[in-house]
Amino acid sequence: MSLFQTIKTPVVTYQQPVGLFINGEFIKGVDGKTFETINPHNEKPIVAVHEATEKDVDIAVKAARKALEGDWKQTTPSERGRLLTRLADLLERDIETVAAIESLDNGKGVTMAKGDVTASAGCIRYYGGWADKIVGQTIDTDPNSLTYTRHEPIGVCGQIIPWNFPLMMFAWKIGPALATGNTIVLKTAEQTPLSALYVASLIKEAGFPPGVVNVLSGFGKTAGAAIAAHMDIDKVAFTGSTPIGRQIMQVAAKSNLKKVTLELGGKSPNIVLPDANLEEAVGWVNLGIFFNHGQCCCAGSRILVHEAIYDEFIELFKKRAEQNKVGDPFRTDTFQGPQVSQLQYDRIMGYIEEGKRAGAKVVTGGDRQGSEGYYIKPTIFADVNDDMSIVKEEIFGPVCTVQKVRDEEEAIRVANNTNYGLAAAVHTTNINAAIRVSNAIKAGTVWVNNYNTLHYQMPFGGFKESGVGRELGSYALENYTEVKTVRVHISKS
Ligand code: ADP
Repeated sequence: MSLFQTIKTPVVTYQQPVGLFINGEFIKGVDGKTFETINPHNEKPIVAVHEATEKDVDIAVKAARKALEGDWKQTTPSERGRLLTRLADLLERDIETVAAIESLDNGKGVTMAKGDVTASAGCIRYYGGWADKIVGQTIDTDPNSLTYTRHEPIGVCGQIIPWNFPLMMFAWKIGPALATGNTIVLKTAEQTPLSALYVASLIKEAGFPPGVVNVLSGFGKTAGAAIAAHMDIDKVAFTGSTPIGRQIMQVAAKSNLKKVTLELGGKSPNIVLPDANLEEAVGWVNLGIFFNHGQCCCAGSRILVHEAIYDEFIELFKKRAEQNKVGDPFRTDTFQGPQVSQLQYDRIMGYIEEGKRAGAKVVTGGDRQGSEGYYIKPTIFADVNDDMSIVKEEIFGPVCTVQKVRDEEEAIRVANNTNYGLAAAVHTTNINAAIRVSNAIKAGTVWVNNYNTLHYQMPFGGFKESGVGRELGSYALENYTEVKTVRVHISKS
């Protein structure tokens, strides 16, 4: 099978790289295996890509190690910054193509996909800006010593990303790692390998030395597990489900105690207090759960509404959710496309059926949409209780529950009644209530009167079982540097 395939989308026709990107070249896997990626809009294969196995991970790690000790080490911080900036420019140059790939492979609406490309370019450019601003400290311990710290790259970083934001997760991962001088072996999700492979060709065009970024398509149990267990990978960064995050940490500990950062699941509460601007709150709640078809780790899936406004809220929210345009990702006004895969579709429909069986009331949705593609109607459940799986477990789809709460105190208690702690929101016009609630909630991000407004300058990550470490902002740089203390004795003569 050739290493490039011509792909026709409704927007552009382009050359899709389908090989493994190792040492600056697209190549076939050692075992010659391939797998197909599926278009979730029509359930048909788009193209086959080469599949990485453990042996390919090994080859990629060797390339990354060689680059780390060679050309990349000789690249100045300013030059690293310039390369990242150039990559951001190339992404923006090719926005139409990259957004089309994302819509085709993941199913997200093309307008949303363009937003992802812009945000990804912004993220990479932002970290380009950091590259020559990584500084240590000088520490005055006594007159006979010179003590300073160096923030050195950790080394070869394994990065494993999910399918919900294929491009953006790629940008979040490579930006801080490259700014701080590391090299990378990254595995994309098996459902969505295409955009990262295309961007790999831009990495080459930008002029990064070979081996600095290696991109592998492959499966979690094989290539992903091989990254987590590899004895010559110094750090692993993972975004995905909590069970797999737990496994990765165990495997990392059993192998070489590689450093681990994890960005995992959530069941985030979205609280609406009685003095909220209700119309605005409904808009944010809608975006909070249904953005990206509910496939966000920080999705506001547990909506907690004060009893004084509960009935009115339900009515307005139902109306708002039913206005969401669900359909073909290539229509520019599409808000919600198909779920990413048959497996996800089945999982979500399973939760919907369980919710119905347990006696929850379907306010709207609760069914598939159409007869082709993995489409599910925006679904709101009311009359739920704390024991239902739809209230407790991450569904990762366009499904939410609305619970009635008596007061602020109960809202906080219910909000924190979860093993997760990724995000939360409170909607209120009372500044004191806003601050009280945000301080009381155990979550890595709390939005006040908005939701899902992530930004690459702001740290993002989880309390409790939602993760380890923070991505984005200056905080992410800490995940990718080792601090070395150097103490020099100053001789009297
Ligand atoms: P989902 O269930 O939503 O697909 P996962 O956590 O299974 O989420 O997948 C996220 C990423 O982790 C994907 O790139 C997947 O291939 C990878 N992955 C899955 N299982 C493992 C594993 N055992 N070890 C390493 N990576 C894995």
